[in-house]
Amino acid sequence: MSAFKAIVIDKSDAGQNVGIREFDEADLMGGDVTIRVSHSTLNYKDGLALTGKAPVVRRFPMIPGVDFAGIVEASSNPEFKPGDAVVLNGWGLGETHLGAYAEKARVKGDWLIPLPQGLTAQQAMAVGTAGYTAMLCLMALERHGLRPDRGPAIVTGAVGGVGSVAVALLAQAGWHVIASTGRPEEADYLKGLGAAEILDRAELASPGRPLGKERWAAGVDTVGSTTLANVLSMTKYGGAIAACGLAGGMDLPTTVAPFILRNVALLGVDSVMAPKTLRLEAWNRIARELDHDKLAAMTSTIPLDGVLEAGREIVAGRIKGRVVVEIG
Ligand code: NDP
Repeated sequence: MSAFKAIVIDKSDAGQNVGIREFDEADLMGGDVTIRVSHSTLNYKDGLALTGKAPVVRRFPMIPGVDFAGIVEASSNPEFKPGDAVVLNGWGLGETHLGAYAEKARVKGDWLIPLPQGLTAQQAMAVGTAGYTAMLCLMALERHGLRPDRGPAIVTGAVGGVGSVAVALLAQAGWHVIASTGRPEEADYLKGLGAAEILDRAELASPGRPLGKERWAAGVDTVGSTTLANVLSMTKYGGAIAACGLAGGMDLPTTVAPFILRNVALLGVDSVMAPKTLRLEAWNRIARELDHDKLAAMTSTIPLDGVLEAGREIVAGRIKGRVVVEIG
């Protein structure tokens, strides 16, 4: 049986240990498509899995990594044949199913989508789960009927992965983007992505009034907790916030005031179990709408053995934009 390089998380009574190992192909889990992985990426959830900071991993040993791009090596699924370029994100990859930080993966063909036309494998992983989630947020706001003429859009955690792509996508769609960040030194970076204004995240970090001054009509929130509560309290009448993250905490200390007095909507966004039609629409829109120069400006690249260190950095809130993991 052939072996390949993988990052493996094991658990013992002493705790979790993570390292690069040779992994036997025979030990891959069930699936009808085997892929030679060329690129993966680093998302906040990967950082939580690698550091063990939250119970993301549901079986051990686990190969972490929630998304990959690669080439089909073998397939008994009629939709895919050897040589096809594919992308996978979510569906429990790196959580319940052996994941992306490896030279090979075996998965259900139903989870795969073809590499979107107009994107290379490297670009698809520069987008990654984070960027695709940013697009799901924009789509949720649009489904709610919101358009740029209704007022500004706020993005929290703006220098992070979801945030950076959200800033670029909203600006490209014509929104006046207010980028909230704890890193004011990255103002030029955010303006380069299309932000019109920078807001110090400290302004949203302390408990505020149930209703504040109406400042934005829409928003993409990656932070949760008090930040999201404040964002809701300052949303204009009839506006909506797409909530996808918890980088600042899982709680939501809000009141019903924004909902019942200002008709504000809170739109939940999940990327992991999103149905295939929504995924295809999101990825195709990204391929069409996300400026490739902006994507390149927000992306850095690391090798597989750089993932452990990068995982610690992302949970510490020190990663800027998107990180591609080059594998094969
Ligand atoms: P990143 O770490 O790249 O970005 C998170 C950003 O949040 C940081 O860069 C920082 O932005 C800000 N931040 C971090 N800690 C705090 C804090 N304590 N208080 C306030 N702001 C903080 O992560 P990702 O972009 O990959 O993911 C962002 C969030 O979205 C995560 O919670 C992740 O789990 C979630 N997510 C959810 C998905 C879903 O399906 N719902 C899919 C993908 C991601 P700055 O420095 O600009 O202040």
